[in-house]
Amino acid sequence: MLARQSLSTSAERAGPTATPAPVRLLGIPLDLGAGTRGALMGPAALRTAGLPETLRDLGLAVEDHGDLAVPPPVESGLAEAEARRCNHAGAIAAWTRAIHVGAYELVRGGGLPLFLGGDHAISMGTVSGIARHCAETGRELAVLWLDAHADCNDPSTTPSGNMHGMSVAFLTGEASLKPLLGGLPFHPVRPEDVTLFGLRSVDREERRRIADRGIVSVDMRAIDEFGVPALMRRFLDGLAGRDVHLHVSFDVDFLDPALAPGVGTRVPGGATYREAHLIMEMLHDSGLVASLDVVELNPFLDEAGRSAILLADLLGSLFGRTVLDRQTPAQRLA
Ligand code: MG
Ligand code: MG
Repeated sequence: MLARQSLSTSAERAGPTATPAPVRLLGIPLDLGAGTRGALMGPAALRTAGLPETLRDLGLAVEDHGDLAVPPPVESGLAEAEARRCNHAGAIAAWTRAIHVGAYELVRGGGLPLFLGGDHAISMGTVSGIARHCAETGRELAVLWLDAHADCNDPSTTPSGNMHGMSVAFLTGEASLKPLLGGLPFHPVRPEDVTLFGLRSVDREERRRIADRGIVSVDMRAIDEFGVPALMRRFLDGLAGRDVHLHVSFDVDFLDPALAPGVGTRVPGGATYREAHLIMEMLHDSGLVASLDVVELNPFLDEAGRSAILLADLLGSLFGRTVLDRQTPAQRLA
């Protein structure tokens, strides 16, 4: 049986990833978690690259909630020795709490939250806010972390002190980082529900955490050997039949820096143009994506906006744009 007709409107093609409820944009101009400044301009660059128009052209309703205001710094709550090893710990704690509240309010209001970073430290707030909502509504939370890095350091293992490299450790319950959230409700994500995809720069202590905690990881070697389709299919099959909220956290350095140079942590050997589009298309077809971060875009390092434009293009695929009005090969075989 044909799962879909060959002709459909763009809104119909948008399918379950893009429900009639709006896509809700929230800019988070934070770059203190990174070693290189400039990602705070990411939200403006994504808007300038036409992201809202791209989504509207697909027939989606888009609500732009503007940018989160810079919160006043707070005491980080980290132990003194650990706070000393973390750059801008007080500011990151303040941001994490403000982002958590903003994300929680946004996801409670329905629609699909799309968080425009900002460096990857924003995800400590976005994912913890989403996790709180999932805990309250009895839904499982799964996180797909598209990134060259594992972001699994903690204050005792970090080589740089940059807190954008600690997000996954925090989200999976690293006790030394828990005070960042202050007294806000914290619901750690189960390590087996976090999938790191696209790894190619992982510190030794991060490897240990990944193995010890059971965080799922797919490195570029696996992508080279087995290809995106098989690996993404395995990931998505693992979510089948579950009442799961899938959050995608998309670090620009997941992409090859030849394609997307506007990032402070360039690592050669990243995802190709077609691999990235295919991932977006498979995520769309799954209908599972319920919230999304786009992080680490650094317009100061970009080349005439090409990374921002590519990201807007990729998000078009995630939200249902296809080259032709046709079924995918997988749908024809279903
Ligand atoms: Mg990252
Ligand atoms: Mg990274």
